[in-house]
Amino acid sequence: MKAFDVHAHLYDKKFTDIDNVIKNAKKVLNGVLVAGEHPESNRQVLELAKKYPKFCYASLGFHPTRVPDFSDKEIEAELKFVESNSNKIIAISETGLDYMWLKHELPKERYEKEKVRQINYFEKHILLAKKLNIPLVIHSRWSMKDVLEVLRKNKAKNVILHAFEGTVDEAVQAIKLGYKISIGNTIKYSEAKQNVVKAIELKHVVLETDSPVLAPVKGERNEPANVKLIIKEIAKLKNVTEDNVIQETNKNIEELFKI
Ligand SMILES: [Zn+2]
Repeated sequence: MKAFDVHAHLYDKKFTDIDNVIKNAKKVLNGVLVAGEHPESNRQVLELAKKYPKFCYASLGFHPTRVPDFSDKEIEAELKFVESNSNKIIAISETGLDYMWLKHELPKERYEKEKVRQINYFEKHILLAKKLNIPLVIHSRWSMKDVLEVLRKNKAKNVILHAFEGTVDEAVQAIKLGYKISIGNTIKYSEAKQNVVKAIELKHVVLETDSPVLAPVKGERNEPANVKLIIKEIAKLKNVTEDNVIQETNKNIEELFKI
């Protein structure tokens, strides 16, 4: 039985051996959702979806950490590009909020302004996903409270909270709104994430690697085949079989995506 990786960046330059990475991924997965971050990577995502049909699925968007590097005009144009390729994509991603990045990577005086811009474009992604009637895969760092608030305010539907960073309480709030919690390889060393998985039912969970980052061994390159390690950890925590984990999370994928 094969699983689904709901979040990866397979165009990353670390994937010089992409054919091999896909070959290994196919042994454990029936698909990978590849997320774009900015104009160049969005086009690379479309290329990958073309090169590996019915395995690499495309999702396009503008990553919150990329927002400060681009003008409003450029981001608006990219959102138009995303919309004009709606027949080639199955989700909107990557989008969301990242206050950690704003704090560490930008001069202090730009923080407030860029935070407002992140929120503005996050809202535009939500509206676009609603218009196209496809799911949203959301990034959040140090911003879960605002992420949930913006989603709620804009009545977002079909939401996946990728690399979920929230508390058990925030996971429960998200579930009440009908959202899915995406769990990656960090579950191996994050007690907070283990507690979230223990507290919620598998019908709210999907799996992701976020390749090439968030590897099971810190600092190494991650790849989609490593989903099998997440399945193993979840099975242990929930005291169910690995096939149960795959079955339950696949049901959530079928519910969200028409693939
Ligand atoms: Zn990502």
